Amino acid sequence: MDADVIVVGAGLAGLVAARELTARGRKVALVDQEGPANLGGQAYWSFGGLFLVDTPEQRRLGVRDSFELAWSDWQGSARFDRLDDEDVWAVRWARAYVEFAAGEKRAWLGSRGVRLTPVVGWAERGELRADGHGNSVPRFHIAWGTGTGVVAPFVDDAHRAAAGGLLRFFHRYRVDELVLQDGVVTGVRGAVLADDPAPRGVATNRDPVGEFELTAQAVVLATGGIGANHEMVRRFWPERMGAAPREMITGVPAYVDGRMLDISADAGVRLVNRDRMWHYTEGIRNWDPVWPRHAIRILPGPSPMWFDALGRRLPDPYLPGYDTLGTLKYLRTTEDIAPYDHSWFVLTRRIIEKEFALSGSEQNPDLTRGDRAAVLRERLLKRGAPEPVAAFLRHGEDFVVAASLDDLVRKMNALTDEPLLDAAALHRQIEARDLQVANAFSKDAQVQGIRNARRYLGDRLVRVAAPHRILDPAAGPLVGVKLHVLTRKTLGGVQTDLDARALGLDGRPIGGLYAAGEVAGFGGGGAHGYSALEGTFLGGCLFTGRVAGRAAADATA
Ligand SMILES: Cc1cc2nc3c(=O)[nH]c(=O)nc-3n(C[C@H](O)[C@H](O)[C@H](O)COP(=O)(O)OP(=O)(O)OC[C@H]3O[C@@H](n4cnc5c(N)ncnc54)[C@H](O)[C@@H]3O)c2cc1C
Repeated sequence: MDADVIVVGAGLAGLVAARELTARGRKVALVDQEGPANLGGQAYWSFGGLFLVDTPEQRRLGVRDSFELAWSDWQGSARFDRLDDEDVWAVRWARAYVEFAAGEKRAWLGSRGVRLTPVVGWAERGELRADGHGNSVPRFHIAWGTGTGVVAPFVDDAHRAAAGGLLRFFHRYRVDELVLQDGVVTGVRGAVLADDPAPRGVATNRDPVGEFELTAQAVVLATGGIGANHEMVRRFWPERMGAAPREMITGVPAYVDGRMLDISADAGVRLVNRDRMWHYTEGIRNWDPVWPRHAIRILPGPSPMWFDALGRRLPDPYLPGYDTLGTLKYLRTTEDIAPYDHSWFVLTRRIIEKEFALSGSEQNPDLTRGDRAAVLRERLLKRGAPEPVAAFLRHGEDFVVAASLDDLVRKMNALTDEPLLDAAALHRQIEARDLQVANAFSKDAQVQGIRNARRYLGDRLVRVAAPHRILDPAAGPLVGVKLHVLTRKTLGGVQTDLDARALGLDGRPIGGLYAAGEVAGFGGGGAHGYSALEGTFLGGCLFTGRVAGRAAADATA
């Protein structure tokens, strides 16, 4: 045997599983198709937003949260409807995960060295129904160091275990096959890829220079999702979402290729909920790309006006930061706009300065460096947009700026093949909205939402601009942003039981095989059901990686 347990994938889920295994004295082979530069996988690039429930950070900001409220929100978002079949384990994982997020998660993260900023964001504000999709309260806790701060302790653990002889890295080992004997997984087989000096996130070569086979008592799959594989995204794009856009941009590095899912299926693993995915409608092309078609997601506050490709304001609840997949469905299934791949934000300088955040560790250098003084300077005291946002205003091909609406629309029209926007029509809609801000109350759902958000201290301080007229020159210039569909996450995947054991087509565990993280649909093959509350992906990797590592350690005692 080459190890007690082989962990395939050195992203967050694999690193957490490896940590739990080595902490219990098991010998681990940590196998990844990428080299040491990419240790930590997607989590390194992530914003480090973590879904936590009823925390001191929330209470300090006056938020009252509870397990009951969070579980109600989760069910309203997930809308599990395959309970006898594909959702049978997913719903159990979902409940266990919300219990973890409302219980042990914060203390456990603290014990691993992950620290939280005092800011709690309000992601996925929802579809305006108490029992529908969305977070009733802010729950998006941001780690110091963003994603790098979440993953660093587990990278350190892996290096320590390697130094102590309990873990061996197999960098540039790509698994192409699971090895089974009498229905039990005994190892993995694949190609050794040529070294590649590319920096983190840059696509590397796939040139085989040899073959390998590793054997162990158990294998943990932690190979991530499908976001960089547009062919696979299209293959499983659900009919309920209309047709996939002709052009999509990519929110994950190229190694998030989904290959392991098909390889697992070939070995008899049961894959479920493959039609459930999580892609954003507020994607912008990165002016300084790292990976192919590199896209950044805008994490918007609630104030930009959102228009479809033909210049009509999106109806509520399709407001910025409210309902990711609801908006995607609206854009892809409304007959006359579905042929277009884009939509638009129109906003003011005042809104962009206060409300635009960009997802990703590299887009938030102050938080990523853990530089508290810089965070205070950049986010509370500074006039003007944070530097990464200002850089997009200067260089981003999806941004236009103008003093008048006529000029703005002319520039927006220049970004599309045909001029689809009519300045007078946009003007009418913006003016009607602007008439709604004179009072502290309003009939406009978006203006109500802005006022509601500002009753939350965190939003008022750092996130939501005071309501003002979009056409007020003092708030300008005006900004137009062309938005694209950005591929990111897989919500379905390998069906697992509550011990993270991968299940076969007969619904029974396959001996020796475990799965964790995105490849396992963050637990059970789809713990999010149809829709997510955000910050639940990193958390899902932490939770499932922990369970898989512990269960595999018990089984190989
Ligand atoms: C920019 C960005 C921002 C994000 N922000 C957040 C956030 O704020 N909050 C949140 O909760 N989530 C966020 N996410 C999502 C989250 O980071 C991911 O869902 C999570 O990190 C996935 O981790 P993983 O370990 O399952 O997979 P990955 O990180 O994808 O790791 C999988 C590893 O497996 C390797 N691999 C794959 N196939 C093979 C094979 N056949 N052989 C060998 N190795 C293989 C890959 O090379 C990779 O290293 C964000 C993601 C991105 C990209």
